[in-house]
This record gives sequence, C-alpha cells and structure tokens, in this order.
Amino acid sequence: MEPKTLPHNHGNISKSEQIIARITNTENFQTVAEYFKQLSDGNRLRIFLLLCHCEECVINISALMNMSSPAVSHHLKQLKAIGLIISHREGKEMYYKASDTPEVQLLHKAIEKMMQITCPDEINE
Ligand SMILES: [Zn+2]
Repeated sequence: MEPKTLPHNHGNISKSEQIIARITNTENFQTVAEYFKQLSDGNRLRIFLLLCHCEECVINISALMNMSSPAVSHHLKQLKAIGLIISHREGKEMYYKASDTPEVQLLHKAIEKMMQITCPDEINE
C-alpha cells in the first residue's frame, strides 16, 4: 500500500501512519467482524458464555437457557459455523463446547469483564 499523504496535519500524522500500516489486511478484519456479528444477539452471547465453561447437549442448554431446542439449535449452528464452538457425538447425543483457541479465550474474558461476571473457573481453581 502506498504511503498516504493526509490532507490535514494535526501533528499526529506518524501515529495515523503507524496504525494504517497495521490495518491494511481487510480479510483479517472481516474475520473479526464475523465473530462480533455472530455474537450480536443476547441469547447467542449467553449460550456462548455458558459453553465457555461446560460441555452440554441441546436439551440441557435449552433447559438452562429457558429456550426451545430449535431456537438453541439455530444459535449453536451459527456459533459452530464460525468456529467459536465445536461439537462431538456420543451415541445419539451431540455435545457442544467452546473452541479451545486464543480468540475464544479473549472473547470469554472480555464478555465477563464487560458484564462484570466473575468467571466460575477462577472461583473453582
Ligand atoms: Zn469464565
């Protein structure tokens, strides 16, 4: 990318140039935007945070969330499609949990911090 000459100089040009050099990869931004897009629903956010702490089947998630299983299944499908959660089958039952990635760890902690929720994992340690 060609260095940009800004129309106005407010004395902070070098900082603007530094950040623009780091945000040229629009593809990476699309990936992060997709995470936020999928988490832009309160119920989906709650399901995601639940699955950051335990592995559960659709029926139990529905009971815990007070939601219908088709509604929960829809949210799980969306979260799984972008890799925020994973699933595995055991017999007839399908179990879901949050993916073990640095991105998921970050989102998990960020949501708890914003919601001022104490992580149960930290209490149990
Ligand atoms: Zn937690």
